[in-house]
Amino acid sequence: MDITLVQGDITEQAVDAIVNAANSSLMGGGGVDGAVHRRGGPAILRECRELRASRYGRGLPTGQAVATTAGDLAARWVIHTVGPVHSRTEDRSELLASCYRESLRVAGELGAASVAFPAISTGIYGWPLDDGAPIAVAAVRGSDAPVKDVRFVLFDAEAYAAFERELGR
Ligand code: ADP
Repeated sequence: MDITLVQGDITEQAVDAIVNAANSSLMGGGGVDGAVHRRGGPAILRECRELRASRYGRGLPTGQAVATTAGDLAARWVIHTVGPVHSRTEDRSELLASCYRESLRVAGELGAASVAFPAISTGIYGWPLDDGAPIAVAAVRGSDAPVKDVRFVLFDAEAYAAFERELGR
């Protein structure tokens, strides 16, 4: 598995699957989620609604992942995963690692060779980048999913630097 870093907007990545930092409602939100639905068009929300009406009546649990179409995006699939909200009193890092592992497992099942990840939970959900980056890199390195290329797409220079430090280890 090759791991690369890109600074930019995840919705512009030409990869097989883009991972969305969703919330459990699967009904859209801010940050990556907002951008994915805005740029991907209504087909994604349509499939999310179907998932809520079938498999995930109570929402997608934290740490799990599920795929839909990518609509108008330059990808075949969007893999929605729900990161944990950061807590100072409870260690939720296993749930954050699970987001990366489960997303790669779903990508492997789909036959996706290339997958783009955002820095899950490090935005609205408040996870410090210096802690989120090592969890992300270790989880991806530890995955045995049959995915060839994993790309972390970091929105700003600070996030990019945090992942760069980690990949160099
Ligand atoms: P969460 O709710 O899981 O924290 P966010 O979408 O708020 O998810 O943020 C996750 C990370 O993605 C943050 O580091 C944020 O700066 C970054 N981000 C926001 N929009 C984009 C985008 N369009 N492409 C890539 N990264 C983004």
